Amino acid sequence: MPKKYLGQNFLFDPSILRRIIDVSGVTHNDTVVEIGPGHGRLTKMLAEAAGKVIAIELDSELFKKLKDELKEFNNIELVHGDVLKYPFDEIGPFKVVSNIPYYITTPIIFRLLEARKNLKSMTLTIQKEVAERIVAKPDTKEYGVLSLAVQYYAKPEIKFIIPRGAFRPVPKVDSAVIHLDTLKKPKVKVHDEKLFFRIIKAGFSQRRKTLSNALKPIAKNIKELLIDAGIEPIRRSETLTIEEFARLADIVKEAEPEIGSAS
Ligand code: SAM
Repeated sequence: MPKKYLGQNFLFDPSILRRIIDVSGVTHNDTVVEIGPGHGRLTKMLAEAAGKVIAIELDSELFKKLKDELKEFNNIELVHGDVLKYPFDEIGPFKVVSNIPYYITTPIIFRLLEARKNLKSMTLTIQKEVAERIVAKPDTKEYGVLSLAVQYYAKPEIKFIIPRGAFRPVPKVDSAVIHLDTLKKPKVKVHDEKLFFRIIKAGFSQRRKTLSNALKPIAKNIKELLIDAGIEPIRRSETLTIEEFARLADIVKEAEPEIGSAS
C-alpha cells in the first residue's frame, strides 16, 4: 500500500519518464541525485543516461525492494535515509532529477540551493501551483517570497505539465516538470543578503498594503528610503522586481547601517 504521508504517488509511464530525462540534459559525465526513487522506474532510466546515480529513499519497505530490483546496476548508489539530512556538500558536482515527495517541496529546494556550490541543475516534478509560484514574474498573484528566493539563486523554467491521471495513486493536483539551472552568482548584488530577504518577507507578509505601510517594521523612515530608491511608496510588494528589492535593501543598509538583519 502506498504511504500517503510520504507523498507516494508513483509515475510508471515510460514516455513521461523519458521526457523528464530529456529535459534534464543529463549525460554520461554526470552524477545524478534522485530523491525518492520509489519503485525505481526513473532510477533505472537515469542509470542508463548518467555516469552515476545516488538514489535516496526514506521508506524501509521500498528500500528493501529497490536493493533487490537495482542489484544489476553497478552505477547506482542506493541510500536509505531522509533527503533533508543528506550531506550534499560531501559529493562532487551533481544534478538532481526527481519526482519529489510534495509534502517537503520547499525544504528540499532550499536544502539543495544551500548546496549550490556543487549543484549544476535540478529537474523536479512538483505540484503545478508551486511550479507557477517559483517561475512567477512581478504583477501576478503567484509572485512572492518563493519566486524571489529561488530566482535569486537559479533560473527556473516550467518544461511540461503532467496531468494527475498519470500517477498511481491519482493525486488531487496536477504536476509540472520544472528545470532550474543554478546561477554562478546570485541574480542581483546586495550588501546584506539577510536584510534583503527580511525586506522581501516583510513586504509579502502584508501584500495588500502599500510598501510604506508593509515595511514600517523595517525602518520608521521607510517612506523616504523608498523615495531615495526610486520606488513610489504607494506601490505594493508584488509590483517590485528583484533588482528593485536589491536597490531598496542597499539604500536601507546605507542609511541605517545599524539595522539588524534578523527577522
Ligand atoms: N520516483 C518515484 C516515481 O516517480 O514513481 C517515486 C516518487 S514519490 C512522489 C516520492 C518518493 O519519495 C517516495 O518513494 C517516498 O517514499 C520518498 N520519500 C518521502 N519522503 C522522503 C524523504 N524525506 N527522503 C527521501 N525520500 C523520501
